[in-house]
Amino acid sequence: MSTTEPAKELTPLELARTAFEKAFEHRPDFLSRAPGRVNLMGGHVDYNDGLVLPVAVDLEVAVAFTPRDDRHIRIYAESFDETAEFDISELTPGSVGGWAAYPAGVAWAIAKADLPLSGLDAAVASNIPIGSGLSSSAALEVAFAAAFRQVSGLELPELKLAQLSQAAENNFVGVQCGIMDQVAAACALPGKALLLDCRTLGIRHVALPSGVRIVVLGTGIERQLRDSEYNERRRECAEAVKRLSAVDNDIRSLRDVEAEALQSLLRHLPPPLDRRARHVVGEIERVQLAAAALEASETERFGELMFASHRSLRDDFQVSSDELDGLVELARQAPGTVGARLTGAGFGGCTVNLATAALVDDFLDYVMENYHRLYGREADEFITDAARGVTVEKVGW
Ligand code: ADP
Ligand code: MG
Repeated sequence: MSTTEPAKELTPLELARTAFEKAFEHRPDFLSRAPGRVNLMGGHVDYNDGLVLPVAVDLEVAVAFTPRDDRHIRIYAESFDETAEFDISELTPGSVGGWAAYPAGVAWAIAKADLPLSGLDAAVASNIPIGSGLSSSAALEVAFAAAFRQVSGLELPELKLAQLSQAAENNFVGVQCGIMDQVAAACALPGKALLLDCRTLGIRHVALPSGVRIVVLGTGIERQLRDSEYNERRRECAEAVKRLSAVDNDIRSLRDVEAEALQSLLRHLPPPLDRRARHVVGEIERVQLAAAALEASETERFGELMFASHRSLRDDFQVSSDELDGLVELARQAPGTVGARLTGAGFGGCTVNLATAALVDDFLDYVMENYHRLYGREADEFITDAARGVTVEKVGW
C-alpha cells in the first residue's frame, strides 16, 4: 500500500470490536448491529393508528459483547469515551441517565417482561449522527436488545425486540416515541421498504425498484418550536377524533375514518381540525397506494404520491418550512428525480428523495447548488440503499 493512500475509515463493527479489546483486554464473543431509518411515506400518521413506509439506512450502531455469569452490565461507549456500569436488579426508571439509559432501559424492559436476563460486557460504536432524524436511539436500543437476547438465550422474534426497545424509550428513558423506528431497526430487509400498520403491528416487505437510490437532505435548521408544534398537532388530532366519535361512535382514531366518508364528516370539524383530519386520512390512503404502486412497479406513481404527501403536510397539516418546501421544489425540477417530501416531524429537519441511480450525482448537484444560491446555506446530504435490520454474529478467530 502506498503511504499517500488516505486511511480507510473504520466501520462501526470494526470500531466496536477494537474499542472492546481496548476496554476489556480480550476479544468479544459476539457482534450485533442495528441500522438507522428514514420514512419514505406516511407523515404524522403513526400516532393516528395509521400506516408508515420506512426503510433502514446504511448507517448503524454496532455492539461488541461477551456474556458474564452474573447480572452485572458494563458498557464502553466509543462515541463518548465513557464507561457505564450497573446491576440488572437495581434498575428503575431514573436510576441511569445519559446515553446509558437506552441500553439500561432495554435490560429493564426485558426483566420487567419476566424474561430471564444475563449480564454482559459491551463496547458500542456508531456512525449514525445523533439527533439528525435518522433515529440513532432506536438503533442503539435494538442492537442492545439483540445482544441481551443472545447472552440470555432468549427466543424472541425481531418484532418483540422492537416492542421491548420502545418500552425502554417510553418508560425508562421517558421519551414518548411511536414504534416505527424500532420496527425498522429490527425488521427491515435489504432492498425493501417496510409497510408497517401501527395499529396491528402487521408488516409487509415491499421491494424498491432496483434503479433508484434514496437521498436524505437536511435543511441545516432545527426549529425551536418543533416539540411544542408536534404536541399541538397531536392534541388537534385527538380533538378531531373526539368530535367525530360524537357523530359516529365507531370512530376511535382517524384511522377509522374511511377516505370516502371524509367529505361529509368534515363539516363537523371547525378549522384547523378539518385540515388536520384531511391530511391524516388522505395520508393513510396514500401510504397504501404507494405500497401498491411499488408492488406494481409503478415507480413514477410512487414519486407522485411522495409529492402529494408533501403538499398535504405543507398545506393541510402545516408542518413544513420555507427551506423544506425549497428542497422539495428543487428536487421536483432536478434531473433524475422520482419523488420528494419532508420526512419526520417537519419544522426544519430533512427531506427524503428518490432519484434514478444513474443520475443521482446530477440530482444532488442541482439541488445543492440551487439551495445554496436561494437560501445561502449548505444542505446536508446522505445517499443510501434500503439496508437490513438487526443482525448478530459470532466473532471468528
Ligand atoms: P435520534 O433522532 O438520533 O434518535 P435522540 O435524541 O432520540 O436522537 O437519541 C439520541 C441519544 O441516543 C443520544 O443523546 C445518546 O444518548 C444516544 N446515542 C445515540 N448514538 C449513540 C452512540 N453512538 N453511543 C452512545 N449513545 C448514543
Ligand atoms: Mg430518537
